[in-house]
Amino acid sequence: MEQEKLKIAICRGATCSGCDIAILDIHERILAVLEKADIVFAPTIMDAKYEDVEKMGENEIDVCFYHGAVRDSENEHMARLMREKSKILIAFGACACFGGIFGLANVTNKKEIFKEVYHDTASTVNEDYVVPQPLYTDEMGHELSLPKFYDDVYALDDKVEVDYFVPLCPPIADQIMTCINTIVSGNLPPKGAVIASERTLCSECERVKSDKRKITRIYRPHEIEIDEEKCFLDQGLLCMGPATRAGCGTICIKANVPCRGCNGPTKEAFDQGGNFLNLIATIFGIEDEELSEEDLVKLFKQIKDPLGTFYRFTLPKSTLRRVKK
Ligand code: SF4
Repeated sequence: MEQEKLKIAICRGATCSGCDIAILDIHERILAVLEKADIVFAPTIMDAKYEDVEKMGENEIDVCFYHGAVRDSENEHMARLMREKSKILIAFGACACFGGIFGLANVTNKKEIFKEVYHDTASTVNEDYVVPQPLYTDEMGHELSLPKFYDDVYALDDKVEVDYFVPLCPPIADQIMTCINTIVSGNLPPKGAVIASERTLCSECERVKSDKRKITRIYRPHEIEIDEEKCFLDQGLLCMGPATRAGCGTICIKANVPCRGCNGPTKEAFDQGGNFLNLIATIFGIEDEELSEEDLVKLFKQIKDPLGTFYRFTLPKSTLRRVKK
């Protein structure tokens, strides 16, 4: 008897849609996927309406890939809807897993963001300071609604139960195929598993690393000529590899770009930024040398935008979670 096809949904939250494109990046392998599965909902790549999902029964979708963070009431509504209608819900990509780049908005709040976007921006003239309202009734009595913009950005599992996590920004084709094949095989990992390597990126990086790493100066990539063979950290360039999960195939490293940490922390590292800060302390020699407070301030001042560097993808899931205003 012919096996029934799986029903797959691809749903978007606060996202740049790179994750949608990443799925299309599996190229001709999508034909093999379509032999085993039907895509029943994917607003970016096919005509689909929210009502189509609302009409479905509970657990009617076999697997939903939700990409993007939860930053407004529409994202949350869709997260809850997809949870109800899907047997397996996957947080797909760094934004769904950790809040991602959108999560950096947790350094500020809705009021400040609206002020910047709808008033202070040089290209905007808005003397009456009109800002989007969740509900507006026009003179004819027609009601118009917009999603409610939240103060905080959330990862998907802050709002609904998530079965599996597939990080990276965006997930790469091989990882997507591993994930799909695992689901098709029915041989599923334990609930809550991260479908990626358990090791750090340094373990799969082929650059030459020094045993006794000590640096006194931090550089930004445009400030030096980068040696393509040597570990970035040994050259004074901040590379998040030691605090980041392996599994991306070191694509950025091979392109001579230091890791920015989009695969998130390993299970042991937990707080990616805190873990990397510890490492910085060792390579600055803070652990075994007597440095004055002045020296420390001088060293750390070399790091431009420490929060954005250490928590670029993971601020909402870090121990900090947000910056208090
Ligand atoms: Fe490779 Fe970066 Fe780790 Fe150095 S720090 S070994 S460059 S991943």
